[in-house]
Amino acid sequence: MQRPGTIAVHGGQSVDPTTKARAVPIYQTTSYVFDSTEHAAKLFGLQEMGNIYTRIMNPTNDVLEQRVALLEGGKAGLAVASGQAANAFSILNIARPGDEIISSSQLYGGTYTLFSSTLAKMGIKVHLIDSTDPNNYNEYVNDKTKAFFGETLGNPTLDVLDIESVAHIAHDSGVPFIVDGTATTPILCRPIDFGADIVVNSLTKFMGGHGTSIGGLIVDAGNFDWTNGKFPDFTTPDPTYNGLVYAEAFGELAYILKARVHLLRDIGPALSPFNAFLTLQGLESLHVRMERHSANALAVARFLKEHERVSWVSYPGLDNDRSHRLAQKYLPNGASALVGFGVKGGYDAAVKFIESLKLFSHLANIGDAKSLVVHPASTTHQQMNPEERVAAGLGDDFIRLSVGIEDVADITEDIDQALACTS
Ligand SMILES: *Cc1c(COP(=O)(O)O)cnc(C)c1O
Repeated sequence: MQRPGTIAVHGGQSVDPTTKARAVPIYQTTSYVFDSTEHAAKLFGLQEMGNIYTRIMNPTNDVLEQRVALLEGGKAGLAVASGQAANAFSILNIARPGDEIISSSQLYGGTYTLFSSTLAKMGIKVHLIDSTDPNNYNEYVNDKTKAFFGETLGNPTLDVLDIESVAHIAHDSGVPFIVDGTATTPILCRPIDFGADIVVNSLTKFMGGHGTSIGGLIVDAGNFDWTNGKFPDFTTPDPTYNGLVYAEAFGELAYILKARVHLLRDIGPALSPFNAFLTLQGLESLHVRMERHSANALAVARFLKEHERVSWVSYPGLDNDRSHRLAQKYLPNGASALVGFGVKGGYDAAVKFIESLKLFSHLANIGDAKSLVVHPASTTHQQMNPEERVAAGLGDDFIRLSVGIEDVADITEDIDQALACTS
């Protein structure tokens, strides 16, 4: 088994036999020619796997899917058009109206509204709990529960999820544990190693790494038993594929293949092969960038900690951080790029700080090679009411940095001059 740094560069690619192209070619095609009517019939009936139409599969996307699945230590992957599509599919693949999900409330803003609003309208109830105590996942378990959900590094409060403890509770309850690993990537944490069943990543962030392309990817560990009686969609015939039973036909590949041939076929958020190509360019340096992001962020967190204009700092890599114990277990190679802190002077000082930065870009994204900054109360989390924001740990003074891979001395200089403007 190759190591992550090698998989990031080579995983999933075999050199194209026709052209010998060293780079992964961009297969910018919508459809693929059948050998014969018999071949076409087999492909459509899923008796034989092969390319039909790029909404469902594409050779460039296939390299990306294999590479990320290898990095995560999973069995198979499915690329989709965004991280949000990946999160939505991860649930829609197993839950029907009337079913319930139990999720951490420490969530990316888009996932929060997906769970609290859109899935609710579809009849899927998501119970949002405080995941800093894993036992809280037990609270709402019943026979309608279909999955547990959480983020490796709660976004944006930066709580490290105790994946192993939550996975035990999920499995005792007969449901899979879905983990969004976007903030850490498999370079810093592989949730499957700690018992997670499904890992979701937004490719838009660190994986692509350069702020050029939106994408998402679901990886299945292949370990969960879909025949335990709670998941009829896997064990009863699908009339749209001649009565195929996914768990019987595909075994440990059932979850990803069902998401591909059913959800992607019918709902259609396919990743463009060009975006898959750009994401593959980013992945080649993922291991190098995550190391630098983490080293720079730790230096920035230490700098902020000592600064007189800063009231508090949250970074799991700091010795006295409330998440440090969990970070030592789950993020031993670095605690990623995200740093949260409070500026003395509240909302107005936070706004002044952001507007005074020169190197940092003020925008709603994370994981770019460039340093980024956002004020959640006025942007990403403005849709929450003030009580929900406080419950989620996001006061008006809260600033979130996504520390880039620039020279760290330039990063801290920029922060220092902007903090000086707040007094
Ligand atoms: C950005 C993000 C998403 C959504 O990804 P998109 O590619 O923007 O749709 C989901 N989860 C986390 C943790 C994110 O940071």
